Amino acid sequence: MRIILLGPPGSGKGTQAQLLVQRYDIVQLSTGEMLRAAVAAGTPVGLKAKEIMASGGLVPDEIVVGIISDRIDQPDARHGFILDGFPRTVPQAEALDELLKHKHLKLDAVIELRVNESALLNRVETRVAQMRERGEEVRVDDTPEVLSKRLASYRSQTEPLIHYYSERRKLSTIDGMMAIDEVTRAIHRQLLALGAVEPKTHARSAAKSAPAKTGAKKTKAAKKPATTAKKAAKSTKKAAKKTTKQAVKAAKKPAKRAAKKVVKKAAKKPAKKAVKKGAKKAAKKVTKRRAKR
Ligand code: AMP
Repeated sequence: MRIILLGPPGSGKGTQAQLLVQRYDIVQLSTGEMLRAAVAAGTPVGLKAKEIMASGGLVPDEIVVGIISDRIDQPDARHGFILDGFPRTVPQAEALDELLKHKHLKLDAVIELRVNESALLNRVETRVAQMRERGEEVRVDDTPEVLSKRLASYRSQTEPLIHYYSERRKLSTIDGMMAIDEVTRAIHRQLLALGAVEPKTHARSAAKSAPAKTGAKKTKAAKKPATTAKKAAKSTKKAAKKTTKQAVKAAKKPAKRAAKKVVKKAAKKPAKKAVKKGAKKAAKKVTKRRAKR
């Protein structure tokens, strides 16, 4: 499975990506993480990206496209991946299309996490506080000033991707303001409706997630399979009912027969006993008579 998670900074892309990775046994490809690693290692890419990242701007397309192309070729990505933070511009999306075509790979879905912008600052502040509590190093771009710049670049350069993927019937929008596990379940349902996940994974989660409302807008393409799935579920229920009735009938038949047998046996038993008793008595009488003689 290959999916893209789309959403502004603080929308929960990273959190959801990690959860999906565990669930579907695929890898998370986060360009932000890769760039931070390159900066930390002081590689040529890292040196180029360092200042841009610290100011909240976007690293040039050719750099991130190159990084992603190499990463997709790694053996651990063969099973599938979640792109987190990539693509961020229309040229990156076009490059990704080309790249996947060239590698004979198909993109299953683009999941947009829609969030209330006023909540984003809060979320980032909470994330920073939690990281500090855990003694982790806080990102240099996790400050209110840089966040507003990152948000501005999301709006101007990344948001057009919503239109790009919706035109290509790839986009599914999920309400990113729900609780973390509700968002995960909504994503899962969407992937299921799109046929991107195995029904086996569905069976495991369906029991847990069935009644929850997602608040997610479904694309036309996503609605269709969902309706088909509903119909399939209905006919499966009917079939199950029929089978159960038949099974009960079938179970009753041998039970009746068995019951009859038991009754017959039970009826025979005392008779047998009586016969045995009678025989014993008769034998005793004969013995007594013989003794008398
Ligand atoms: P993130 O961890 O996804 O928030 O990314 C952190 C920073 O890395 C961004 O603010 C950008 O400066 C840079 N970055 C990450 N991914 C990309 C990308 N696809 N294109 C350009 N810059 C990126």
